[in-house]
Amino acid sequence: MAEDYYKILGVDKEASQKEIKKAYRRKAKKYHPDSGSEESDEEKFKKINEAYQVLSDQEKRQKYDRFGKSGINGDFRQRARTQGFDDIFSSFFGDIFNNSDRRKRNLDIAKKIKISLEDAYNGTEKTISIRRLSKCKECNGKGSKDPDSIQTCNECRGTGETRRVREGMFGRQIVVTECPECEGAGQIINNPCTQCSGEGRHYINDEVSINIPKGVNTGQKLKIDGKGHKDNNTGQIGHLIIIVEVKEDEIFERRDENLFYTLKMGFPDAALGSKAKIPTLNGDVQLDIPSGTQNGDVFRLKGKGMPRLQRRGYGDLYIKAVVETPTDLTEREKEILQELRQYEGKHKEPDKGFFQTVKDNIKDAL
Ligand SMILES: [Zn+2]
Ligand SMILES: [Zn+2]
Repeated sequence: MAEDYYKILGVDKEASQKEIKKAYRRKAKKYHPDSGSEESDEEKFKKINEAYQVLSDQEKRQKYDRFGKSGINGDFRQRARTQGFDDIFSSFFGDIFNNSDRRKRNLDIAKKIKISLEDAYNGTEKTISIRRLSKCKECNGKGSKDPDSIQTCNECRGTGETRRVREGMFGRQIVVTECPECEGAGQIINNPCTQCSGEGRHYINDEVSINIPKGVNTGQKLKIDGKGHKDNNTGQIGHLIIIVEVKEDEIFERRDENLFYTLKMGFPDAALGSKAKIPTLNGDVQLDIPSGTQNGDVFRLKGKGMPRLQRRGYGDLYIKAVVETPTDLTEREKEILQELRQYEGKHKEPDKGFFQTVKDNIKDAL
């Protein structure tokens, strides 16, 4: 599948270098895996870089325009390898996000959780197991068998970071990078703990119970403090981010706080009126079906929908009448219907406009 580099960056074929650079900066920032934004997406970010490396180079762009990807194959890959993520990152955003911000975000753990519509209605508590990096008990997080042998790193004087000022593409920038000597730890461990290999932390299995509030919907996130990974350098612990998915229900369809239910009925019930038992997430209720109910009529049961998340009240339950035409009729039934047919046409009203029909058909039942 050939992907269009112009489309990836969202520019047109005639775009100037300036426009391409601008589009790239905007997109790279948006999708950067460490940007912390909702849209961060490593795959997209890679593609954006690939596109930019071709389109920002006059020669490659010309080849690409003429021969497509095959014209520049092999070319950009090499450059992508030598110029890694972090280089691109710090050359653009070195002064905006530094290493410690990046580290903090990496401490979060994301986990999906599937719940039923009933659980979303009532709220529920779920226990999940996660694996997270926690303080090593053997060395109490120090990373060394012998705490006295730990030395402060000479290179960064214990800060774990090196800073330098450089003239970049977009002016003067302070580039903060992890100290290469101590890998950001700020200290040198001479006698590493065998339990955690000097890391000061290791993976543990943790059971976390999660309170899921009533009214949640698919895609909503719950943030639980203190259940992410632990960072030994800063002592910080990340969050556990729960992404909720509410399963499709067999009975109800949900749209935000409202529920929808289809009620099938025979022609006699629709014509003469009747009573129907309607399921709700809060027990059955009785609905009076008025005589002359039409196929497609919609009734509303106020307050029988989903609870509103973190607000008072409930949405509504909409009931759509579906009048079914009988099949497999007995002889007696046929006789009755034939008799009925003789009266057909006597009561017919002229057609109303479509929108008027829809308006007339919504009836408040309670
Ligand atoms: Zn240890
Ligand atoms: Zn250092």
